[in-house]
Amino acid sequence: MKQLRAIRGMNDLLPDQSPVWQYVETTLSELFGRYGYSEIRTPYLEATQLFSRAVGEATDIVEKEMYTFDDKSGDSVTLRPEGTAGTVRAAIQNNLLNQPQRLWYFGPMFRYERPQKGRLRQFHQFGVEVFGIAGPDIDAEILVMTARLWRQLGIADNLRLQINSLGDSASRAAYRAALVDYLSERREQLDEDSQRRLERNPLRILDSKNDRTQELLQAAPCLLDFLDRESAAHFADLRRLLDAAGVEYEINPRLVRGLDYYGKTVFEWVTNCLGAQGTVCAGGRYDGLVEQMGGKPVAAVGFGLGVERLVLMLETLQALPESLHQQVDAYLVVAGEVQSAALAAAEKLRDELPWLRLQTHCGGGSLKSQMKKADKSGADYALIIGQDEAATGRVTVKDLRSGEPQQTLALAELPALLQS
Ligand code: ATP
Ligand code: MG
Repeated sequence: MKQLRAIRGMNDLLPDQSPVWQYVETTLSELFGRYGYSEIRTPYLEATQLFSRAVGEATDIVEKEMYTFDDKSGDSVTLRPEGTAGTVRAAIQNNLLNQPQRLWYFGPMFRYERPQKGRLRQFHQFGVEVFGIAGPDIDAEILVMTARLWRQLGIADNLRLQINSLGDSASRAAYRAALVDYLSERREQLDEDSQRRLERNPLRILDSKNDRTQELLQAAPCLLDFLDRESAAHFADLRRLLDAAGVEYEINPRLVRGLDYYGKTVFEWVTNCLGAQGTVCAGGRYDGLVEQMGGKPVAAVGFGLGVERLVLMLETLQALPESLHQQVDAYLVVAGEVQSAALAAAEKLRDELPWLRLQTHCGGGSLKSQMKKADKSGADYALIIGQDEAATGRVTVKDLRSGEPQQTLALAELPALLQS
């Protein structure tokens, strides 16, 4: 039979990589916990309508990136391409929005894109969504929190924060009209994608990757000149809070974000160490979405963080802790027909040293071959149980790093040695 392969753009996470992901997952979930955020898990599969309504018909995601199919009852369903829509649906459906909520999630997202470095078809996001807090204090909190994350991971020097304000929907509409006027007069100078967007979603032209289009935009009307009073005050307050907290940022008036639901604050954390896929974390305020999805009007702000891109960054910058790839502390060598004594000793050690990662050799073999495996396992110690040790309730310990001579100890003496 022809060998079966994974679907393009959907990766396996292999054992030598999983410690890196566990490190990232633990660091992020603990950090969110320290700020009082709770985890939410929503289904991977949702009604297609959820995304066309929440994300917006005229977005890249809904126009061309969704994995959509009919299930057996003929209903159109979609593998989630992002996490906000499902979180909003769950929050409305389960009456979570009677009080402020600080939520985070982690999991796979699915987008039919051209796979390349930092761009997959199944990728993973951490996300944060906060509901019921309208002021800039919470925008500042999530930015301060992400800034702390970069410091904790040791990559703060390689990430820049860009912020912008999209204003309210009236100021956005006024700006859209001015932008369309300006660009329509120069239509033939726009790239093909941007020409199409001119009707469908003109603001997206601002983040076109085309150089000529970007040049054309230099003299275009500026979004920040169109801000309504409230959004301008919100933006000014946010900047003051970030200044006071010592979080550096650049104002990027072209920053719009690809999804329809954003208004007021938007932001991206960008790196230049990943080539074209430089945005690691992106989000903003989406005060209108909950009501648009059938809930009460509830203010909301959040972000999504691409884990593959973060992992690539950590690897590129060699910012991973050295101990990460050590999976076991000790390797138990079973020399001869002493399996039951070895099993008992191993369980006793696990009772007494819950932190100890102890791998017991299984499958027999000579002492020499087992010692080789102990070495290869990355363990600090080989613990050897042979006939003598089994008979006397002792264990021989070899320090695999120091090369010191091995010693034979009573099982009860082992914890003190391994703890040292
Ligand atoms: P891009 O402009 O790179 O396509 P986006 O605006 O579509 O990004 P968002 O929808 O804001 O991305 O998703 C948030 C984050 O998720 C991105 O900043 C990125 O880190 C990550 N991400 C998005 N799409 C992918 C993908 N196909 N593969 C890997 N990571 C992704
Ligand atoms: Mg995209």
